[in-house]
Amino acid sequence: MAGRVLVVDDVTTNRVLMAELLERKYYDVEEARNAREALQKARANPPDIAIVDVMMPGMNGYDLCREMKRDPLLADVPIVICTTLDTRDERRAGIEAGADDFLTKPVRPVSLFARIRSLLRMKAMTDELRLRDETLRDLAMEGFSPSALEPPPGAHIVGLTSAAGAGPLKDMLEARLDVRVEIVCEPRDTFRLLEASAPEAVLVDALGFPGFSSDFCSAVRQQSGGRHAALLTIVDVDDAATAAACLDAGANDYVMAPVDPSELAARLRTQLRYKAYADFLRESVRDGLKQAVTDPLTGLRNRRYLDAHLPRLVSRAREHRQALAVLAFDLDRFKAVNDTFGHAAGDAVLREFARRLTDNIRTVDLAARLGGEEFVVALPDATLETARIAGERVRAAVEAPGFAHEGRPIPVTVSVGVAGLHGPEDDATAMLARADAALYQAKQTGRNRVILEAA
Ligand code: GH3
Ligand code: MG
Ligand code: MG
Repeated sequence: MAGRVLVVDDVTTNRVLMAELLERKYYDVEEARNAREALQKARANPPDIAIVDVMMPGMNGYDLCREMKRDPLLADVPIVICTTLDTRDERRAGIEAGADDFLTKPVRPVSLFARIRSLLRMKAMTDELRLRDETLRDLAMEGFSPSALEPPPGAHIVGLTSAAGAGPLKDMLEARLDVRVEIVCEPRDTFRLLEASAPEAVLVDALGFPGFSSDFCSAVRQQSGGRHAALLTIVDVDDAATAAACLDAGANDYVMAPVDPSELAARLRTQLRYKAYADFLRESVRDGLKQAVTDPLTGLRNRRYLDAHLPRLVSRAREHRQALAVLAFDLDRFKAVNDTFGHAAGDAVLREFARRLTDNIRTVDLAARLGGEEFVVALPDATLETARIAGERVRAAVEAPGFAHEGRPIPVTVSVGVAGLHGPEDDATAMLARADAALYQAKQTGRNRVILEAA
């Protein structure tokens, strides 16, 4: 199927006409008579694209758009708004609601299909990248959950309380948790500490301060040293209003006075755990975990990543009834390159090979270095023949223009094996093994060639 399209329109004739038009181009069409039904169907089975009418009874097209963009499951589904009202205001309303495109009725098939195709291409790309990131996350998260996490020892806690409460609060916490409590008795001093050291947690005894309000919590959240801190308040037992206001202002939790020391300690511990978990996620996303799945020499993904990701590509290909192929590469007589030109020259060749490899595949293809001079590329939605052509392109790009080190030409060629995903019994391991066997054939039959898996 060319792609799954959800058509949302309250007028039956419009829906039928649109569906006919799409089905003639082999799109798989699902229809919905109103926004509610559209959401229900989309959530049950997210479409590749949605074509949405504006004026419908109940929830209109713009609201549907907003609803979909808010739902993580549907946020990536491109939406084309179709309307008879073609004014700048209407367009702005559509875009502000999150629509990707805007068509006026009666829709001209040519422009409709052009837009659908371009949106579907974009969607395939983001789906692919998102899928990769999921693999990345899962690899880093192995055996990692917030409840299994111990708060970091000696966590720095800033406690804000009255002069009379200072000693007891510090003792209460340090007796029960591995923490270092620093007490301040002036709200302003809290901000000084936040700036200086970004503590793990801030604990505010609201009873210690006449005139305390949730504004204090907002202010902590606005300061960079307090943005990610665990923030807890102690409020009076009948003061549910302040407790709620503090949560709205960004506090993570509260306890009611008179304080039960073990409850306070338990809540603080929980919040410290969550914070450690969130910190970890932020760091991972930022960069840390990329290193765990990246080959340092070439910057390509490593074997660990490929092993985790290829099975996902297999399931996804099955789900979407799409093809999938892999290419296995091994540089020819690479030992001789090292022996003749030195290891540093060998490394330079490997880096340059990786560059030519990525230059000759699509962005959605996954290139990994398995180790040594062995590489694998996975090609989603590619048939054996498409993959063979890609492999041949890489092979040719290695053969010419040739490699050089410090002015000396280095002879480099590469052998390639190609395998595709077959019946329901097939899997990532078997597919790689077949690509490897084909690669072995390429070596046996003279190297510098692309060989398809045995039929
Ligand atoms: P064939 O055509 O049969 O593949 O021959 P080959 O010499 O490439 O095969 P072999 O597997 O025997 O040798 C691979 C060589 O790759 C061995 C080692 O010197 C070299 N090698 C492996 N990893 C690295 C690396 O990280 N850097 C460099 N410079 N060389 C490496
Ligand atoms: Mg080898
Ligand atoms: Mg080799």
